[in-house]
Amino acid sequence: MITIDGSEGEGGGQVLRYAAALSLLTGEPFTIRNIRGGRAKPGLMRQHVTALEAAAAIGSAECSGLAVGSTELTFRPGSVVPGEYHFAIGTAGSTALVVQTVLVPLMLADVPSRIVIEGGTHAASAPPFEFLAHTLLPVLERMGPRLSVTLERHGFFPRGGGRIVLDITPAPLVPIDCTQRGAFKAGKVEALVAGIPFDIADRELKAARKVLTDWPEDAFAPVQLPAEHGPGNALLITAQCDNVTEVMSAFGQIGIPAERLAKTAAKRMAGYLASGAFAGPYLQDQLLLPFACAGAGAFTTVKLSEHARTAAGLITRFTGRAFHFGEDGEGRWLVRMD
Ligand code: ATP
Repeated sequence: MITIDGSEGEGGGQVLRYAAALSLLTGEPFTIRNIRGGRAKPGLMRQHVTALEAAAAIGSAECSGLAVGSTELTFRPGSVVPGEYHFAIGTAGSTALVVQTVLVPLMLADVPSRIVIEGGTHAASAPPFEFLAHTLLPVLERMGPRLSVTLERHGFFPRGGGRIVLDITPAPLVPIDCTQRGAFKAGKVEALVAGIPFDIADRELKAARKVLTDWPEDAFAPVQLPAEHGPGNALLITAQCDNVTEVMSAFGQIGIPAERLAKTAAKRMAGYLASGAFAGPYLQDQLLLPFACAGAGAFTTVKLSEHARTAAGLITRFTGRAFHFGEDGEGRWLVRMD
């Protein structure tokens, strides 16, 4: 039984999701205390409960302590059973983070799975649908499995109500080299609005253009969604390169000017492009688990995040395998396992 202090490292929900996925992959049970101990309001939130319920469902696991507000739980994995599953978060909690919990165990199963998840698809502090579809899954497909995800309905904070469908055709994971990003091919900036004033999209696009000055005018486009998908707003900045497509995002929040959100996301994209790295600030922690399961591989990334360090630490505890991190002196990192 592995014991984890949930306040260590990054100290948020990711510790829990990574532990559950690793437990399913290794067969090791775990107990976690001080769940989300690094957050202002510790304990399980609805989205973490659903992520663990999803892990327990696909992995025939016994899980005690699984309730909103709980700060301690024990997870005993059984065998992973691929197939058709439906998980409803019931809030705007992230559908992509439920995917993060079950994806790798199902990528290594013996037959395909189809997972329907309802909840948030475009909300702060989590991957938007487009990051899943265009950034993460295409990299993982290069390792062997076939993966596709479709968006049936948007889900914004606070209402939720989004719906995605994920199809996974498993395959053994082969190590890949993601050290070279390749040439920049095209950039696109989309401002999504649903059931809120359209000028918010214009303001965001203008602010993003002031930062991404060498992107052509037709790269910037407002997108009006059906009002019943909202209210909500998201800015999606996509850079397509030869070997990877990165998506940086911002999500409209009451009390924060649209211009400020857009400028921050555009600057993040500009910094990523200037770095020459393969993985941006969020892709890095999400690549570690599949790379560890492949047993080897390498990628370059921007400044190493606390999420990545925490994930790497958990991988070592469950598997005994370690990643090597090296900095090139110019803010670019090489992450590898061999
Ligand atoms: P908590 O509320 O405790 O922070 P959480 O489960 O919502 O819990 P984290 O533990 O911070 O969140 O994990 C967030 C995950 O979402 C990480 O894997 C991170 O890389 C990813 N992520 C966050 N923002 C983005 C984004 N804009 N694009 C892509 N991925 C993101």
